[in-house]
Amino acid sequence: AEKIRVEAEKLNIAGEIAAGVAHEIRNPLTVISGFVQMMKADKNSPNYYYFSLINEEIERINLIISEFLVLSKPHAKEMTIFDIHDILNHVKLLFDPQFQSHHIILTEELLAEYSHIKGDANQIKQVFINIFKNAIEAIDDTGHMNVETKWTGTHIAIAISDSGNGMSQKVIDHIFEPFFTTKEHGTGLGMLITNKIIQEHGGVINIDSMFGQGTTITIMMPVHSNELMPIH
Ligand code: ADP
Ligand code: MG
Repeated sequence: AEKIRVEAEKLNIAGEIAAGVAHEIRNPLTVISGFVQMMKADKNSPNYYYFSLINEEIERINLIISEFLVLSKPHAKEMTIFDIHDILNHVKLLFDPQFQSHHIILTEELLAEYSHIKGDANQIKQVFINIFKNAIEAIDDTGHMNVETKWTGTHIAIAISDSGNGMSQKVIDHIFEPFFTTKEHGTGLGMLITNKIIQEHGGVINIDSMFGQGTTITIMMPVHSNELMPIH
């Protein structure tokens, strides 16, 4: 009982339980999903349309659970020192098929002299995945994206721009709120997670956008101090 009380002080118990429940929901969901796949295998079934809808909704639950689990994970950060340029290049590769199918031209200028940070590389990767995903969804079809990094003298600034539909001030004001979405199939968790991860790494995120004009998301991160003291 003593141990539990101490932990309750340190951790958000409600959040931990919710994460555990979310995780447990996955198992029965996998079983349901398996049977639905089986039922919708027969395209001539009179219920094919309904099975497809069930399947879509199961995928949606899975997406929400995945995002929720990312959100509740920060307790288990795996800290390493890594190059943010490597992460950007990796995420760029992941999205290559989507850039092609959406006719998006990506340009980049990774100019920051210092680009190593200390943190959880998987979480930082998740940040860029969330931002790239939003950019692609905002562009819809045909457009461009630009990724830029530069050293400000104190931080690395990473700016990700898209020529998509942009945001009104009202959307910007609510963008970090849980479940805030303007999309039919959005979860409204991506930017909340992004903001939380960046804050936990000592960084800040800035949104510069205008409705109909595209968006630039800028992230400022402190770099790993060893890099600032080069050995001569
Ligand atoms: P979701 O993508 O599931 O809607 P997010 O938290 O990722 O949730 O984003 C919240 C909302 O912010 C989106 O629904 C959209 O309205 C707006 N948004 C985020 N990024 C962009 C962007 N690059 N261009 C236009 N709107 C954006
Ligand atoms: Mg999103």
